[in-house]
Amino acid sequence: MKHRDLLGMEDLERADIERILETANHMREVGERDVKKVPTLRGRTVVNLFFEASTRTRASFEIAGKRLSADVVNFSPSSSSLKKSESILDTARTLDAMDPDCVIVRHSVAGVPKCIADVLSAPVINAGDGAHEHPTQALLDMLTVQQEKGRIDGLTVTIVGDIAHSRVARSNIYGFRRMGAEVRVAAPPTMIPADVETLGVKAYTSLREALEGADVVMALRIQNERLVGSWFPSVREYSATFGLDRARLRFAKDDAIVMHPGPVNRGVELSHELTDDRSSVILDQVRNGVAIRMAVLYLFAGRQRGRAAAEETRP
Ligand code: ASP
Repeated sequence: MKHRDLLGMEDLERADIERILETANHMREVGERDVKKVPTLRGRTVVNLFFEASTRTRASFEIAGKRLSADVVNFSPSSSSLKKSESILDTARTLDAMDPDCVIVRHSVAGVPKCIADVLSAPVINAGDGAHEHPTQALLDMLTVQQEKGRIDGLTVTIVGDIAHSRVARSNIYGFRRMGAEVRVAAPPTMIPADVETLGVKAYTSLREALEGADVVMALRIQNERLVGSWFPSVREYSATFGLDRARLRFAKDDAIVMHPGPVNRGVELSHELTDDRSSVILDQVRNGVAIRMAVLYLFAGRQRGRAAAEETRP
């Protein structure tokens, strides 16, 4: 990889994305074995530094590291010296002095992983920073689409929901556009950033128009933790206008797939039945999350002491 750190999809070229997806396909095969473990990162240490809540991302980075035989350390701010007023950067420097091979960072403020990367010698992977980016989510979404549709190039991807506050939307816009897909976003006008079309997407306030001809429909959660004040009249009205259910999915292509990064608020952005429908690939996304994070750890943590050493133990 050209970059030492994985901070956002904005920085990745198409060739980088293809390399990560291809590596993840090898890693998926490891997950299908009886013994789901390879020695690729034996002797390497991966630190999970999560300052914000997480279920899927944190667990899958931990499982990914363990499947590659790395030692995984989970750092929890609530039981750390951050409670004793140590600054984030001093905490990061302290962890760096223990020579980790990779540090995974999640924080509620955009830009924190970059600030940490600037003071660390280990590669930093952004596991979600505020409303900025969540690159491994976009990569696992692309892996899922590639698996379901056989390609990404030329597909139409419609992202529905809180575009303005979603790091998943931003990372997916960069990623899917770079891989040749048409990307549409749909939301109430207050939840669409004014400059979103400069990212090469088309913005819709009519859900029906946004869904027409879509191959992939991605629903997003309203990011309540980042909303100050009122952005739409009520959850009920939001759901009545932008909530996805089986009837509305009929506006999209017959074989359209439904995605969601989780956690799902059933009955708000996705109906109960659509969440569990045949068209839903939500659990495949979770499964692919482990493969993508194995690929990312292999490509970013495995090379630090020389690519040749990592190649030798490639699964
Ligand atoms: N899990 C995703 C994130 O961390 C999406 C969400 O929370 O709605 O951004």
